[in-house]
Amino acid sequence: MLDVRVLNRVFDVIDQNWENNNLIEFCHCRLPLNPEQLEELWDSPQFKERYSEEQLSRKFKSILNPFFNGQEQKEIYCKVEVDNSEPENGRYSLFAITKEMLEADTAYYETEMPGNINRNYLSMLDLLYKPYLYELVFKCSMNELISLVTRDENNRGFDLYPGVWCKVTIEPAGDDNGGDIRNAPRRVEGTLWYSASRPEYETVLISEISKVDQSFANTYQQLELYQNDIDNCIDSNRVKHDYLDKLFCNVRRSRIKVMRVGQANAIIVSNVCRITGNASEKRVFAFDLGLPTPGNVIENDKVATGIIDDADDKLMENTYGRPEALIISHWHSDHFNGIYVLHRDMFFGTNRMIVIAPRYIVNDDNYELTNRLIKFLINKGSIIFVDDVFEYGDRSNKCYYRLMRVNERNENYNENCLMLRINKTLLAGDCEYYAWPAKLFEDNSGNNVKKVNNIIIPHHAAYYNTQGILNCITPIMSSTPKLAIACVGHNTYGDGNPLRDHPVQSVLVAYDHENFDVLCTNNTNIASANFAFEA
Ligand SMILES: [Zn+2]
Ligand SMILES: [Zn+2]
Repeated sequence: MLDVRVLNRVFDVIDQNWENNNLIEFCHCRLPLNPEQLEELWDSPQFKERYSEEQLSRKFKSILNPFFNGQEQKEIYCKVEVDNSEPENGRYSLFAITKEMLEADTAYYETEMPGNINRNYLSMLDLLYKPYLYELVFKCSMNELISLVTRDENNRGFDLYPGVWCKVTIEPAGDDNGGDIRNAPRRVEGTLWYSASRPEYETVLISEISKVDQSFANTYQQLELYQNDIDNCIDSNRVKHDYLDKLFCNVRRSRIKVMRVGQANAIIVSNVCRITGNASEKRVFAFDLGLPTPGNVIENDKVATGIIDDADDKLMENTYGRPEALIISHWHSDHFNGIYVLHRDMFFGTNRMIVIAPRYIVNDDNYELTNRLIKFLINKGSIIFVDDVFEYGDRSNKCYYRLMRVNERNENYNENCLMLRINKTLLAGDCEYYAWPAKLFEDNSGNNVKKVNNIIIPHHAAYYNTQGILNCITPIMSSTPKLAIACVGHNTYGDGNPLRDHPVQSVLVAYDHENFDVLCTNNTNIASANFAFEA
């Protein structure tokens, strides 16, 4: 048993740092204990009596909260990331981080380093940490952005370009803050987005951009060192046939629910057991988990707008039950950013959610956010990568699935993806039509089954390649009834033009031409946020 005096000293350390908002001391457990004692401490009733997990977690979050908390200005660190599809029209995303977040990340990964003697000191941080999303999205030209760079007496600023970290001064954009953007040319307005669990948004003004200080640069370099082994981990984390067999093989009937999340995909699949036919023995998984956000939901879609605020509950507490696995079709955030709003218990313990994803390709599309999410999932042992074709066919029960890794064009995530066909339903992610593999439409014996009745319409493909749709869907479609679902919303590549919102008219015409009923998620006749159908 821990000595009472030792216990009291520990409580003092925690209480003091709690008072002082000292995250590192608070979380990194610089406590007067050896690792064995520390473990004993976490398990001790005295500790649990004094600090509930909820209390600790609330404190942790309040320290990390990036918003203003009454301040008129604050400095954060940002790295410019460009949406490559329309660089001239300028919708920029800044991956953002605060000093506290950087410290928490660094402390977390430090303890994960092999051979680190502080490994056991992870306990408290492990109890509290999960990946959070912190992003600043705004619209302006690169020149406007550069005009915010502070200059020295020789009128020289530092070079600002994508991939470079900078220090950014932000202010709340409220009315009482002189927030009229037209009268303040040296300002850019954007949306700051944060999610520790529930997503939060705040409109902010960027008023100044400058070089990062050396201490930030050093700490960040340290963090990069901890994160740079993502590629190695991926090789050792291939998906096991066993697992997919369990998830899919007992399928008798699939119910599929498409969530109303703007231009994003969040699809929940419930497989009813083939053997018993008992609905209570179902396997539930998600295929993509994208969030509705102020940027991807069209303004008159009140239902989707309403989901933005409690997306964590809406995505997880659907009527099918909590998904045991998430299949990510590809590494574009509108297909996985719902992970950031999940409750912490989805990442921990034996019931944690397994993430199944295509191998992560390191290329220009890499976002900081994706890297750190993958790193976290690897650390938690929660992610497995698919490199092959997985299939299960049971013709006597008329049941068939095929999960395929498509690897068409290295530079683009849309075609570096997973596609899933369950019976006659195709979950295609954003794979452009030209890259749809013929094998996806074959059965176990290599016969082309050419039967798809239901499809969730891919986002990007829709805009770029209408003729391609006809070329692809015509040969594989079975007879009526056929259903195509479009997850309606804004996108970054459409430059705010409503005619380029998803789905574009030409796509609707193409599907109509093939006698599809097209169901749009923003259809005002549908009161529910979900669309369910049978595969
Ligand atoms: Zn995509
Ligand atoms: Zn998409």
